[in-house]
Amino acid sequence: MARLILKFGGTSVANVVRLEQVARIVKKEIDAGHQVAVVVSAMAGITNELVSFAHALCPSDVTLEHDVVLASGEQVTSGLLALALQRLGLKSRSYLSWQIPILTDASPSQAKILNIATHELETCFKENCIPVVAGFQGVTENRRVTTLGRGGSDATAVALAVALKADCCDIYTDVNGVYTADPRLVFYAQKLETITYAEMFELASQGAKVLQARSVELAMKHKVKLRVLSSFSESEGTTVVEERNKVEGTLISGIAHTQNEAKVTLIDIPDQNGMAAIVGSLFEHQICADMIVQNSLQDGKSNLTFVLQKSDLDRSVPLLEDVKKKIGFTDIIVNKEIAKISVVGIGMRSNLEIVTILFKTLAERGINVQIISTSEIRLSVVIDLKHMSEALETLHTAFNLDEKKV
Ligand code: ADP
Ligand code: ASP
Ligand code: MG
Repeated sequence: MARLILKFGGTSVANVVRLEQVARIVKKEIDAGHQVAVVVSAMAGITNELVSFAHALCPSDVTLEHDVVLASGEQVTSGLLALALQRLGLKSRSYLSWQIPILTDASPSQAKILNIATHELETCFKENCIPVVAGFQGVTENRRVTTLGRGGSDATAVALAVALKADCCDIYTDVNGVYTADPRLVFYAQKLETITYAEMFELASQGAKVLQARSVELAMKHKVKLRVLSSFSESEGTTVVEERNKVEGTLISGIAHTQNEAKVTLIDIPDQNGMAAIVGSLFEHQICADMIVQNSLQDGKSNLTFVLQKSDLDRSVPLLEDVKKKIGFTDIIVNKEIAKISVVGIGMRSNLEIVTILFKTLAERGINVQIISTSEIRLSVVIDLKHMSEALETLHTAFNLDEKKV
């Protein structure tokens, strides 16, 4: 008998028919003799709707009241799935985070899990009852409701797998596993049998939302066996592993993209201290600037370019206007029409060929690279949004990732 955590995402629980299908998947594992705890997301689209309600009333800040609103979607699906399991003759009950509790810090909309008490869930297991845990939510020691960042039900599932010493954490979603690129955009994307934690983390951080980046980080740290599977069709899925043999000739394992970011350029910043004030004022408000590039100009001034989430723009521009008044740079230019493409692979360590292929491929298509950033196993470029699909497909081909479809 294995202990399994099964997590089902938004499209998997999108309606009552889907919930009944999820209940059958859970029953199959129970019938195979396994002990199962389930984690659910909100129904597809619900969290976005809840975000828009809270944003309409309070656009300038993100507070714990936003979290109370956002967390409500998972309450609905946890209760509904428990009902669906009961209907199949299984013993089941729902758990909200405060009932376990899943203790977090108090950072609004991006709380970190500090501890998960196991007593409640272990008791549930002993009674042969299937716990259905509302994902994405936590509670502070002052009993405030928190949420774990978008896609955070993945983090709930991995953290539960750690706390309950589960044998495996299965993330059920609407694709058959992790692909070499988003299969909804790249027709020739191939499903990967395995991917390393490090590669998956880079892909997830750069927009491959099939897994939340923080959940991968947590799984890597605690060596949780993590699989990505479809709740729509039976298939092998993808296993996230520590190491894998590099397939000969493949430098790149996958390509991620995001169009959720905007590029901000600040013109004629007077001195070095200005830089710290600008980036600092954003970080103080939990706004993360990425791909920061400084261009020194001849008169001792410089321009600063960075990207940030489009959803943070409304809050960022007034903060930057304040800094502008204090240190006196001349202009703030915002460009929302950008996309970031990131190629990722352990095979690119110490291999410069990749840079050549990337730039040559984009240049041949007349696609201009606006910003570049790298890590040991990733190369990211910012390009014009209108070239995103073309860049994804041509790079996918150029790096020999295309599946041979007949
Ligand atoms: P869930 O609601 O189940 O958590 P998400 O929408 O968060 O599902 O993540 C699944 C989606 O991730 C897929 O529908 C797919 O479009 C997208 N995706 C992006 N990159 C990849 C990739 N490399 N492999 C698989 N799916 C990807
Ligand atoms: N429902 C939340 C979201 O849409 C959490 C999740 O789906 O994992 O971000
Ligand atoms: Mg998700």
